[in-house]
Amino acid sequence: MAKRDYYEVLGVSKDASSDEIKKAFRQQAKKYHPDMNPDDKEADARFKEVNEAYEVLSDKQKRAQYDQFGHAAFDQTAGGYGGGYSGGFSGFGGFDDIINSFFGGGGFSGTRRSGPEQGADLRYDLNLTFEEAAFGGKKSFTIQRSENCEACHGTGAKDGTKQRTCPSCNGTGQVKTVQNSIFGQVQQVTTCSTCRGEGSIIDEPCDACKGRGRVNRMRSVTVNIPAGIDDSQSISLSGQGEPGRKGGSNGDLYVMVHVKPHKLFRRKGYDINYDKTISYATATLGGTIVVPTLEGDMDYQVAPGTQPGEVVRIAGKGIQRLRQSSKGDMFVRLVVDVPKKLTDEQRELLIQFDESLGNKGDSQKSKKSAPQKDKKEKGFFEKVKDKIEETLDGN
Ligand SMILES: [Zn+2]
Ligand SMILES: [Zn+2]
Repeated sequence: MAKRDYYEVLGVSKDASSDEIKKAFRQQAKKYHPDMNPDDKEADARFKEVNEAYEVLSDKQKRAQYDQFGHAAFDQTAGGYGGGYSGGFSGFGGFDDIINSFFGGGGFSGTRRSGPEQGADLRYDLNLTFEEAAFGGKKSFTIQRSENCEACHGTGAKDGTKQRTCPSCNGTGQVKTVQNSIFGQVQQVTTCSTCRGEGSIIDEPCDACKGRGRVNRMRSVTVNIPAGIDDSQSISLSGQGEPGRKGGSNGDLYVMVHVKPHKLFRRKGYDINYDKTISYATATLGGTIVVPTLEGDMDYQVAPGTQPGEVVRIAGKGIQRLRQSSKGDMFVRLVVDVPKKLTDEQRELLIQFDESLGNKGDSQKSKKSAPQKDKKEKGFFEKVKDKIEETLDGN
């Protein structure tokens, strides 16, 4: 059979631009595509012819050779196209977009395996007290897991009965379909619809699991909480998720930790912040106070002249660092308690005291509850009050 002229095949003139050639090829390829012309040998031959013409005319060098020598220029290569299109497309430039126009971008469906399936990962939200997180320890809880049915060993078939190999796919779980495409014949593998990819059919379903092969079970899980774990951290328990199917490995269990707030302490990393109220006299004179810690109450020496809101550090009384033996620190903010009610005697003593500090006159004013806005020098109480407010504002 004599070869037709490539320009004639694509229906373009000899001086057609590359865009015109591309456009013509798309039209012709679509027209003769095997998908559009099933079992049409004539169309198939034309389709190949169109492809061959485009391969040459879309390539500047090959086109020039063809223009000069005609088909003789490609005798050797052209012969290769007779037997179908297996792997013959390496030379095609800009072919991707053409394929996309036929296949809509992603024509090849993935295959689904009916072999071992890994069990699903599970998540459990575990609430811990502040102390439980700080000290760690064992915690137990129950979770629901979908497990292989014991009665049928996960097969889903009633005890004593057997699963039948699926006749549609011969047990493979997959069905192969052959499609004609721009590549020639393309084999497509899809999940068997008869057995949903299982490869076998159950005639008599297991009573315990109603043929699903899986049952829900409540399982008790014990987890070791490492000392120092913090809110929003998780512990993974390998293999404690749902059991796999058909010999597949188990999923994992992720324990999400939620730590409840403490009524006294605030955690910051591995440090603990705590507010301790001390009397005005203790702040001034110093003295021993009792500070609660995670390990119990302890005595602390307040230094004389401690300012309201001063923060002191108690080393090593924080939280144990994860997987370490060292601990964070405790930061105690000393809040000075300013008395709100005083007896006349107390008031008199305080005024005397204030005057002894050289704040003459100021306290007399405050006694009469007169406004002090016009006063440049603030009274003793005012100073203390300002200090406290400063401290509180600073938070
Ligand atoms: Zn069962
Ligand atoms: Zn099947």
